[in-house]
Amino acid sequence: MAKYTPMIEQYLKIKAQAPDAFLFFRLGDFYELFFEDAQLAAEELEITLTGRGGGTEERIPMCGVPYHSASTYIERLIEKGYKVAICEQVEDPSSAKGVVRREIIRFVTPGTVMEESMLTDQENNFLVTVVQSHSLYGLSAVDLSTGEIHLTELQDLSSLLDEILSYQPKELLVEDALLDREDIGTMLQKRYRVMVTPFSVEESQFEDLLKKVESQFPTFHQECSTVGLKKGLVTLYAYLQNTQKRSLGHLQRLHRYDAKQYMMLDEVARRNLELTITMGEGKKRGSLLGLLDQSVTAMGSRLLKKWLDKPLLRLEEIQNRQDVVAAYLEHLLLLDDVRVQLKNVYDLERLAARISYGSATARDLVALHRSLAAIPDLKDLLRQLPSKRIHSLLVEIDECVDLQTYISKAIVAEPPLSVKEGGIIQTGYHEQLDQYRDVQKNGKQWIATLEQQERNRTGIKSLKIGYNRIFGYYIEISRSNLRNLPEGLYERKQTLANAERFITPELKQKEQLILDASEKSMDLEYELFCGVRNHLATHVGRLQKLAEQVAELDVLHAFAKVSAEGQYVRPEVHEGDEMVVVAGRHPVVEALARDDQEFIANDVELNHQSRELYLITGPNMAGKSTYMRQVALITILSQIGCFVPAQSARIPLTDRIFTRIGAADDLVGGRSTFMVEMAETCQALREATSRSLILLDEVGRGTSTYDGLALAHAIVEYIHDHVGAKTLFSTHYHELTQLDQKLERLVNVHAKCIEKDGKVVFLHRIVSGGADRSYGIHVAELAGLPTTVIQRAKVILERLEVGSTESAVACAVSAQANGPHLSEVHEEPMVYQTDDPDGQLSLFDFGGAKKSQEQEVVHEAE
Ligand code: ADP
Repeated sequence: MAKYTPMIEQYLKIKAQAPDAFLFFRLGDFYELFFEDAQLAAEELEITLTGRGGGTEERIPMCGVPYHSASTYIERLIEKGYKVAICEQVEDPSSAKGVVRREIIRFVTPGTVMEESMLTDQENNFLVTVVQSHSLYGLSAVDLSTGEIHLTELQDLSSLLDEILSYQPKELLVEDALLDREDIGTMLQKRYRVMVTPFSVEESQFEDLLKKVESQFPTFHQECSTVGLKKGLVTLYAYLQNTQKRSLGHLQRLHRYDAKQYMMLDEVARRNLELTITMGEGKKRGSLLGLLDQSVTAMGSRLLKKWLDKPLLRLEEIQNRQDVVAAYLEHLLLLDDVRVQLKNVYDLERLAARISYGSATARDLVALHRSLAAIPDLKDLLRQLPSKRIHSLLVEIDECVDLQTYISKAIVAEPPLSVKEGGIIQTGYHEQLDQYRDVQKNGKQWIATLEQQERNRTGIKSLKIGYNRIFGYYIEISRSNLRNLPEGLYERKQTLANAERFITPELKQKEQLILDASEKSMDLEYELFCGVRNHLATHVGRLQKLAEQVAELDVLHAFAKVSAEGQYVRPEVHEGDEMVVVAGRHPVVEALARDDQEFIANDVELNHQSRELYLITGPNMAGKSTYMRQVALITILSQIGCFVPAQSARIPLTDRIFTRIGAADDLVGGRSTFMVEMAETCQALREATSRSLILLDEVGRGTSTYDGLALAHAIVEYIHDHVGAKTLFSTHYHELTQLDQKLERLVNVHAKCIEKDGKVVFLHRIVSGGADRSYGIHVAELAGLPTTVIQRAKVILERLEVGSTESAVACAVSAQANGPHLSEVHEEPMVYQTDDPDGQLSLFDFGGAKKSQEQEVVHEAE
């Protein structure tokens, strides 16, 4: 067996504690990586791979980074989805016998970063834990950087996945047993690129950990009433303890919720409705969050995202929020003043977390001081708002004046970045420190006097006393003046090109005093600073509460700002059934429209008596999906307490929004577009209630015409007869418009277009009745399809229009020979029989007998 040097032996022992992480092994001024870690890190970080002797014949691969710039390298590894273990020297090398003792002091993982540079201000950084207890899944989500923990239990795998994804976790801990049984880990890792860490608490340690958790969280017993919740929190806590190895005092707030308390928005709906990011580029700009996020503080932005993920179902809470927005709108001038005050409030949540975690700098404390100082003015301003909700919030706000005073007494107004080099603590805060500072100050004065004295004594006017780190204080005489210096007066120390440097025993003695005092005062300052930070850490709960309150005020102010700018109205949210929106607009499309584009407002009226399902027809690009999304977004805006873009709106409390919009292949999951389409539709059919809103956009287009039509038909019927949810169903199958004769709560509407000078003009107006034309070729032309293709399509359609089957097939064959493959035209004409028992519906004939709408259009256009 290879015999390594003691240091490498030590390395290997420590590396065994961090098998899945890069071990940053501190060696003097460097962090070194060895063996495979070194090979991979050199590649990932593009740094030089070297080697080092380690007792064996072969050199050990090694690479390293300087300790002072390590954070940038760690950051890059974390961003690439790795973990890093930081191993420090934990004893003074000069007093160590043998190899210096080393320990891992912390693991940095994507879900546990605390460094400002690795966090995005406006986003949470969640680590989610999943455990199973009996038939339930326990989920706990922590953001270590803000100190919040959310807990819930879910009944099935699909809602568990949706809930996990709503946190956009950076890391997921999954109990080993669960990972073996379910496919959660692989799925999340592959499809959503979440780092999955298998992790379980050993049974023997459970009781001990439980006791620690009980004492850490004041509300533990109220919030964690079930076995699953307890197990989830204990697992989470154990992982944090293992990886952080330090105070987790800022983790105090437990927020347990039941997913049923909120409107359910699954991953598909959130994505399709572009709630927080756009579908195309995955950016915040262009999403509803991007539009609404007029919050001034980072805490506000993060809270807003949480509100958007979980719209409310309780009327009273919604109305409370609306009341505040309404009050702001009555005092628009105040809005700007409030913004100005909010700008003075820094990220209290993350400041508080860093204080408690022990990583806050003196500048962080000054930022906290400034933030606290802004609170009284903010309260004064808000007091002017005529809102009960605001007034009760204001009464609850603790301004933390004592902490503010405490910081200003202890910390100077503009401290340096480093907390170890002094210049942080206020004069008068600590007697001993003041004495050290006096010594330094007097010493410097003494040196200035000595300089003057020596100039007089030698008659050399340019004589000066300087200081550098290597030689300390010295007397410098320029070369030209050297001859005027009496021999032996000073002791020669250093020769430069044009000057000579000297010292005297007296100067060195004073230097020692000054340096001693300087070193001692720096040490003392650091100690005092840590004391101040620790004292503030004991008040972390108060700061977190304040952060929550400010965040809420900020989001409501943002709602008011957006509502004022977009001329939104207060929706009447109610527990009844009907939805009536007069002149509603799509908030984001409207906001992003160019100046010369007017957004066309549209109405919607849905109820369970007579208008439950809208069958929306009309050509592509006519505005169907915009309209459908707008109805959903207005509902969501209403239930988060914001005003809505409309002339007026009555919105029934909606428990869930289902969407099937747009085509998306699930390549990683191995499902075709059609399969995804059916899976999403299936969920709506199975889980929607009469309080849900379903948006189905062109369901059935992923398969052949006949299959598609048959499915679309059956789905519409099923929703109408069995689900009873308010539904917007857009389709290209004009044949379906005839269903209104049979389904009494189905209403035909269409996106209106007109033809002008042979061109189609989209009016973007949703009007009643079915569309009579498709304008498919026009749209293709608009999209820039080559003229040859367009011309050819027109010819084929013209022939189809003539109505002969032979000609259609012949057409297809010759069309194939010419390029485009029109597979659907190949199919045998068939007759589609609806299962209409009363025989009210006509047979839908797809063959030559009946002209399709598109044929007519093209014919006319020709
Ligand atoms: P469809 O779903 O019918 O294919 P979209 O809803 O995607 O059509 O709309 C196509 C484009 O038309 C959108 O990108 C948008 O720019 C514009 N649009 C849609 N609805 C409106 C409207 N009500 N007012 C103005 N422009 C609209």
